[in-house]
Amino acid sequence: MKFTQPKLPYAQDALAPIISPTTIEYHYGKHERAYIDTLNKLIEGTEYEDMPLEEIILKSDGKLFNNAAQAWNHIFYFFQFNPDGMKEPSGKLREKIDEQFGSFDEFKKKFEEAGTTLFGSGWVWLSADTDGTLFITQSQNAGTPLTQNLRPLLTFDVWEHAYYLDYQNLRGEYLHNLWDIVDWNIIERRYI
Ligand code: MN
Repeated sequence: MKFTQPKLPYAQDALAPIISPTTIEYHYGKHERAYIDTLNKLIEGTEYEDMPLEEIILKSDGKLFNNAAQAWNHIFYFFQFNPDGMKEPSGKLREKIDEQFGSFDEFKKKFEEAGTTLFGSGWVWLSADTDGTLFITQSQNAGTPLTQNLRPLLTFDVWEHAYYLDYQNLRGEYLHNLWDIVDWNIIERRYI
């Protein structure tokens, strides 16, 4: 089985100016594609060949883990955006965010803080456990909450390749601006 790179559900310039078309061209068009291409090469003719992507992530390490997890993380990242999406969570997820973090604004502040304080390359995540309890976590490099038995809901990529063309060293500004294009409809569907 070969993994194919899913097409973006929006135009290359749809997220501008938060994420520029040039960043989409490189981050989605070259980085994400390279992880998927490398993953396909690494699994060819191995026991991993017919496994679903999440199973490969849970059963592999080293180079295969890095490329499988980065493929998953990037697909997940790019599919949470929509310039005309729902700007705030509602329903069950909103209640849980308010209960655990005090308010949506407090949650966003904590999430941004987790992103700015992560040293080096990685990801910041909102995930849920099987009881629906929420967690904000950081992961280094290709790390994912899937290996901690958590279900990812939202992620911000804090590798420099995600923001350097648009924000240079201003990671905090990139993280803060991303809220304008996160579609909470999609995040809520991941929570249910
Ligand atoms: Mn990336």
